[in-house]
Amino acid sequence: MRILVVEDEEAIADALVHILTKNKYIANACYDGEDGLDNALTGVYDLIILDIMLPKMNGLQVLENLRRENIECPVILLTAKDEISDKVKGLDYGADDYVTKPFAMDELLARIRSLQRRSGNVTNDNLIKFNDISLNLKTYELSCNDNSLHLGLKEFSIMEVFMNNPSIVISKEKLLEKVWGYESDAEYNNVEVYISFLRKKLSHIKSDSVIKTIRGVGYRLEESK
Ligand code: CA
Repeated sequence: MRILVVEDEEAIADALVHILTKNKYIANACYDGEDGLDNALTGVYDLIILDIMLPKMNGLQVLENLRRENIECPVILLTAKDEISDKVKGLDYGADDYVTKPFAMDELLARIRSLQRRSGNVTNDNLIKFNDISLNLKTYELSCNDNSLHLGLKEFSIMEVFMNNPSIVISKEKLLEKVWGYESDAEYNNVEVYISFLRKKLSHIKSDSVIKTIRGVGYRLEESK
């Protein structure tokens, strides 16, 4: 899952990115509202953590612009204690949740997981399931029956894209965007390497789910026949 952090206190923004990455999210930071809006409008983010007091454009204006452009991804606002009216306005503008600064990282992570559960196929115990496999968003384990394996960050993120879009063809370009990001110089070759890792892991846990190559188009997670 790809998360955008928009926060002008760079030390906080960078710490958030660091902790999110350790928790197997792919995260990027922007340090002002305009840059945040530009990045959010690309549509590649699954969730945005948005500070309210920002230079160039405040968080509420960013949010308003995003919703006007039909970017509907979940937004968690970061608010200061004395910004209660902003909090209310934020929820009216279409924010999904907020945390008050200073906040505990565990609380923010729990709220992210809660939004993930609300927005998709994630179960109450933080699993995404497809066919005979499940992916654990808290432990990053891929399991089939009694067999489990830990996935690395990129493997986990790719698997998450597949499991959130079962039986749909995902292009290499989409995987590059989601997992490596626009500014990365990763190439299709990188995607192919990680797909081959994942195929080995699926066979190691004795799953009959396979990542099928759809020539010239991309990949699809499906049940082998
Ligand atoms: Ca701020």
